[in-house]
Amino acid sequence: MTRIALYPGSFDPVTNGHMDILRQSLALADKVVVAIGIHPGKSPLFSFEERVKLIHASAKDEFTAEEASRIDVIAFSNLVINTAKEQGAAYLVRGLRDGTDLDYEMQMAGMNGTLEPQIRTIFLPASPSVRHITATLVRQIAKMGGEISAFVPEPVAEPLRLRARPDA
Ligand code: ADP
Repeated sequence: MTRIALYPGSFDPVTNGHMDILRQSLALADKVVVAIGIHPGKSPLFSFEERVKLIHASAKDEFTAEEASRIDVIAFSNLVINTAKEQGAAYLVRGLRDGTDLDYEMQMAGMNGTLEPQIRTIFLPASPSVRHITATLVRQIAKMGGEISAFVPEPVAEPLRLRARPDA
C-alpha cells in the first residue's frame, strides 16, 4: 500500500523551513504531495508554475534522486482536507515552529479530523536551525535588498533576488 502524505502551504517561495518538513515527510510516507494553495485575489511573488519549478529544483539539489522522485506538486483552491481526500492521502503534514503554530494547527487538525476521520494530521517539529524562517519575512528581506541565502535553498536564492528587486 502506498502511504501518501499531503503537505499544503503557499511555498512563495519554498524555504529551508519547508525543505526540512519535506525531508521529514519523505522519511514517513512513500509519496509526498506538496499542495500549493492558490487564492484568487492574492498576488503571489512567484506564479504557481514558478513555485513548482523551484520546489523540484530544490529537491533535486538537496535530496537523493530516489527521494526527489517521490515528490509531486499540485495546485489546490478548495478545502485542504478535500484535496487530501482527492489525492488519496493518509496523512496531512504540518510543520510546527512555535506555540502560535500549535494553537492554530490544533484547531485545524480537530476540524479536519471531524470532516475526514481517516486522514490523520501529523505535526512535524521544525529543526532548530530553521524554526525562525517564514516565507513572509524572507520576501520582505529580499524586497529590501537583504541577504536571503541563509533562508532558502540554493536554486531559489537568485530567482528571489531578481523577482523581489527587478530594478536593482
Ligand atoms: P509560511 O508560513 O512560511 O509562509 P506556508 O504558509 O507555506 O509558509 O507554510 C506551509 C507549512 O510549512 C505550514 O505547516 C508551516 O507550519 C510549515 N512551515 C513553514 N515554515 C516552516 C519552518 N521554518 N519550519 C517548519 N515548518 C515550517
